[in-house]
Amino acid sequence: MERDSMNQTEQKSYALIDGRKISTDIKKEISEQVTLRKQAGKKVPHLAIILVGDDGASQTYVDHKVKACKEVGFHYSMLRFADTISEDKLMKHIDQVNRDEDVDGFIVQLPLPAHISVERITEKIRPDKDVDGFTNRNFGSIVSKQPLLLPATPFGVMELLKRYEIPTEGKNCVVVGASRLVGAPLSMMLVEEGKATVTICHKFTKDLAHFTRHADILIAAVGKPGLITAEMVKEGAVVIDVGTTRVEGPQYKNGYSLKGDVDFKEVAPKTSFITPVPGGVGPMTIASLLLNTLRATELRNL
Ligand code: NAP
Repeated sequence: MERDSMNQTEQKSYALIDGRKISTDIKKEISEQVTLRKQAGKKVPHLAIILVGDDGASQTYVDHKVKACKEVGFHYSMLRFADTISEDKLMKHIDQVNRDEDVDGFIVQLPLPAHISVERITEKIRPDKDVDGFTNRNFGSIVSKQPLLLPATPFGVMELLKRYEIPTEGKNCVVVGASRLVGAPLSMMLVEEGKATVTICHKFTKDLAHFTRHADILIAAVGKPGLITAEMVKEGAVVIDVGTTRVEGPQYKNGYSLKGDVDFKEVAPKTSFITPVPGGVGPMTIASLLLNTLRATELRNL
C-alpha cells in the first residue's frame, strides 16, 4: 500500500484510505453484475431519485448519483418538485414510486423544506426499496442478523475498513456523533459485524479527548471542521472522517471548499490510516447506494 510521507522534522508516514479508488472498484464490480444480468435476461436495476427544491448542494449530490447510475449501467429516473409542495402531496408521490414495479430502489434527497417531516417521509418509503437504508425497519435490521438494506454511509465506512483489511474485532472504536443517519447505525454495525468495543460520543460528552485518545479506530461524524486535533488522537490510530462541511470563501475555486471534522494536516502523521475529505467516505456513500440498489433488485427476484 502506498504511503504518503510528511515533510516534518520527525518524518512519519501514514496510509491514505482512498475512497475514490475503492468506489471505482465497486462500480466496476457492479457494472459487471449488470452485464451478467442482461445476458441472463434479468432486470436492469432502476434507481429513482426524488429532489425537492433547488438547494445547490443537494443538486450536486443528485448529479453525482445520476452520473454513478450511468457509469454502472443502471436505469434511473428523476422526480423534481418545487419546495412549496405539501407533505401530503409528496407522500402521494412516494406511494406511487413504492408501487411502481419498474423501480427497484429510490431515495428522497435530504434536506427537505422545513414544513415537511423527514421522519414521516422516510417511513413512507417501502423498506425493500429504501436504498439509503434510512427507515426504522432497515435501521433495526442491523441487529437482526438478517440485514435488509444497510444505511448507506455507515455501510460505506465498513466497506472501506474491510477493503483496507483493517481489523475491527476486539478493537476500541470511538464514534464521535450519534445521529440517526450516521453515528448511531455505524456504531451498531461496528458492534454487530465488526465485533468491536464501541464508545459513542455526542454533543453532551464531557471531555471528548479522554475518549478519542483511547481509540484504535476513531470515526468522526459531526460536521464541525477541525473538531479532532492531533492531541486527541492516539499514535498509530485509524482515523475515518465522515464530516463534510461546505466552508465558503473567495480563496476557493467554486467559492467553497469541503472540510472534514479532522484537522488532517496535524492529525495524519500520527495515524496508521486516514481518510481525506473530499475523496474518503463521500464516494463510498454513492457506491453503497449502488450496491443497495443492486441488492434491492436481487431481493425482489427480478
Ligand atoms: P447531524 O445529524 O447533525 O449529527 C451530528 C452529530 O454530532 C450529533 O449526534 C451531535 O450530537 C454530534 N455533535 C455535535 N456537536 C458535537 C461536539 N462538539 N462533539 C461531539 N459530538 C457532537 O449530522 P449527520 O447527518 O450525522 O452528519 C455528520 C457529518 O457527516 C456532517 O458533516 C455531514 O455532512 C457528514 N455526512 C457525510 C456523508 C458522506 O457521504 N461523506 C454522509 C452523511 C453525512 P447530538 O446527538 O447530541 O446532537
